[in-house]
Amino acid sequence: MPILLDGRQMARDLQASLQKTAAEIQQELGRSAHLAVVQVGNDPASTLYRKAKERLGTRLGLRVTPHLLPADATEAELVALLRRLGADPTVDGILVEQPLPPHLRTPALLQHLDPAKDVDGSTWATQGRLFAGASCFVPATVAGVMHVLEQHVGDLTGKDVAVVGASNVVGKPLALLLLGAQATVTVCHKYTVNLAAQTRQADIVVVAAGVPGLLKADMVRPGAVVIDVGINEVNGETVGDVDFAAVAPVAGAITPVPGGVGALTTTMILQNTLTAAGRKLARANA
Ligand code: NAD
Repeated sequence: MPILLDGRQMARDLQASLQKTAAEIQQELGRSAHLAVVQVGNDPASTLYRKAKERLGTRLGLRVTPHLLPADATEAELVALLRRLGADPTVDGILVEQPLPPHLRTPALLQHLDPAKDVDGSTWATQGRLFAGASCFVPATVAGVMHVLEQHVGDLTGKDVAVVGASNVVGKPLALLLLGAQATVTVCHKYTVNLAAQTRQADIVVVAAGVPGLLKADMVRPGAVVIDVGINEVNGETVGDVDFAAVAPVAGAITPVPGGVGALTTTMILQNTLTAAGRKLARANA
């Protein structure tokens, strides 16, 4: 059987060091690092994710404040809130839960986030830095994938990586970071003609397509590392984009769903918030 890449355990390991960093920041800054979480409307998954940030953040010694707008909030109201949080010197990081209600234009509205507080890498300013290989806030999901690869694979130089999915939130930024780590990257999407041929030649396959069971056993080279980013509800169960039961016996290592990459996301947002607070401290001390 393959190595099970346990995102929950990796998150716990990281949290121990984040707790120390949070305490140091609190000491030096005279207040806790502060994440503001904006939610518009009552999407149940967004509520769950927001509360998870509040719970974990509080436990690690950060301050996490919810900022709730009604589902029929106007663009002007959201922009005003983002500007207010951007101007507030006691706020280090801002995260807007997505999806936003359909009448609100994403990603145009997210451009009103202060890039210095853009802890989920949502602004074009941050994305431009990522494109250029400059230091930046890596979107939490992508940071989770990179963390799993760092832990299990280490050096990615020369590795063949197939990324299935080319969205602006997962596939594209991930492909750029992998390129930056000197991997050979193939980006696949729903118009890729022979997906299996692309995934079968890869040392590492990352799937972020939103299609349950898309990656089958015959699409994976024996011994390959398989990372499943997908989160899908099927018959009341959460499943990934990988046909886990069939692929696991072929893979060398694989992330489960749930308990894989998704288990790291909240921790990554808090880590980025501590980084933002740390930068503020460094500027103050300069
Ligand atoms: P998206 O719908 O924005 O993009 C999906 C991408 O997959 C597109 O590029 C599309 O071309 C490609 N695709 C769709 N069907 C395909 C197919 N049959 N073959 C090959 N490629 C195909 O989705 P997204 O926001 O990038 O999310 C992808 C998945 O990752 C979803 O299941 C989502 O729930 C999950 N997700 C998880 C997290 C997390 O924290 N763990 C965060 C964001 C997204």
